[in-house]
Amino acid sequence: MLKDRDRRTTGYFDPEEVMPLEERRTYERAQLQTIVQHAYAHSKGTKIRLDEAQVRPQEIQGPDDLRRLPVLKKSELVDRQKQAFLFGDLLGVPMEELRRIYISPGPIYDPEGREAGYFGMGRALYAAGFRKGDLVQNCFAYHFTPGGMMMDNGLSLVGCIVIPAGTGNSELQARVLRDLPVTGYVGTPSFLMVIAEKAEELGFDVKKDLSLEVAFVGGEMLPETLRKALEEKFKVLVRQGYGTADLGAVAYECPFAAGMHLSEEVLVEIVDHETGEPKRPGEPGEVVVTVFNKVYPLIRFGTGDLSAFVEEPCPCGRTSKRLLGIFGRVGEATKVRGMFVHPRQVEEIVGRFPAIARWQVVVDRRGYQDEMTFRIELKEDVNQTPLLAELQKTIRDILKLRAEIEVVPAGTLREADRKIVDVRKWG
Ligand SMILES: [Zn+2]
Repeated sequence: MLKDRDRRTTGYFDPEEVMPLEERRTYERAQLQTIVQHAYAHSKGTKIRLDEAQVRPQEIQGPDDLRRLPVLKKSELVDRQKQAFLFGDLLGVPMEELRRIYISPGPIYDPEGREAGYFGMGRALYAAGFRKGDLVQNCFAYHFTPGGMMMDNGLSLVGCIVIPAGTGNSELQARVLRDLPVTGYVGTPSFLMVIAEKAEELGFDVKKDLSLEVAFVGGEMLPETLRKALEEKFKVLVRQGYGTADLGAVAYECPFAAGMHLSEEVLVEIVDHETGEPKRPGEPGEVVVTVFNKVYPLIRFGTGDLSAFVEEPCPCGRTSKRLLGIFGRVGEATKVRGMFVHPRQVEEIVGRFPAIARWQVVVDRRGYQDEMTFRIELKEDVNQTPLLAELQKTIRDILKLRAEIEVVPAGTLREADRKIVDVRKWG
C-alpha cells in the first residue's frame, strides 16, 4: 500500500474545482463570452472565422451558441499556419508577450504565454497526487515540443522539485531514480515500464531501492493492464491526463480514476465528427475544445480525438464533467449501428478481464442490422458463465452496444490478427 495515500488523495489545488453546478454554469458562460469577444477583437484569424459564419461575437452567450461556428479541424490549423506566418493569425496578443514557441510535427507552432500557470497543469498534477516537496523526474521532452515545459510549469506551481530528465537514456533514468529520493514520475506510461525493466536488469530492487510514490502519465494510451502492472511493480499511484500542445491541459484523473475531469480553463464538446451534432453522455464522438486562454484563444478546436462524457457526479467532489478516457483518433474508429467502436475501447473492456487471453471483434451485417461479435480465447480453468455475463454488461456500459460473445478454442487467434475486423458487405 502506498505510504501517505490519504495525503495524496484528498484536497484540491484550486477551490474552483468544487464550485456548485449552478455557479459553474455561470462561470462557463462568462468565460466563454469574454474569450470570444477578446479573440474577435485581437486575433484576425478568429475574426475571419466568425465573419465567415456570420456570427457576431456578442451572439455567443453560452455553449449552445458556439455550434453556429464550424469546428476548426487540426489539419486546417496546419494549413492556416502555412498561409499566415504567425500561428495562422490566431494569436490573441502581440508576439512580444510570448515566453516560448514550440514546434510539433505537422509542422505546427504553438505559443506559450508569460503567465506562470500557462498550460494549466497544476490542478492536474495535484489531482494525480503530487504534493509540495515531491522530487519529480520529468521524462517528457524539453526540446521543440512543449510536453517537458508544460509539466515543468505545473510542477513548479505545486511546489515540486524537478529533475528535467527528458526522454531516452533509460539506464541513467533508472540510476537517478535509485540514487535520489525521487517520489514522482511524469512521462509516458510505456517509458516508465522501460525504466522499470532497465532497473531490474541493473539488479535494482524496484520496490525496495526506489521511493517512487506517484506517477502522472500522458502522451499515449494507458491501458488498464499497463496501469495495474506499473502500480504493482513500483507500488506507485498512476494517474493520467489529457492535453495537447495547442490547448494545454484539457482533462485529468482524480484519485478515483473514473474518467478525466475537465479543466476549468476549457469548454469541451463531444460531437459527431461528420455531422457536428452533439453527442449524449456515454456516446463517443470527437473532442472539440474552446480554451479560455487570451494568448492563444482557440475556439471550437477539433482535436481529432475520440471520447465520451461520463454523466454521474464524481465522489471526489470536483464538479467538472468527465471524459471517459481517450479511445483513439476519429479516423481509426469503426461505426457500428451509428456508434463509434475504437480498438482502444475494446482494449479497455478486455483489459478488465485477466482471464481473456486473446480477442478479436468482428463486425458483420445480418439483414439490415450491424452485428458485433467478440471472439475471445480464455485462459485455462475459467468459470465461463459469470465471466460472459460480466463481459456483456461491460460491453454495454462502455460501447453502448450489444454484442455476441463467442468463446473460441485456444490457438484460434493470433497476436498479429486485426483487432477489429469489418466484414460487412455493402450493396
Ligand atoms: Zn473525481
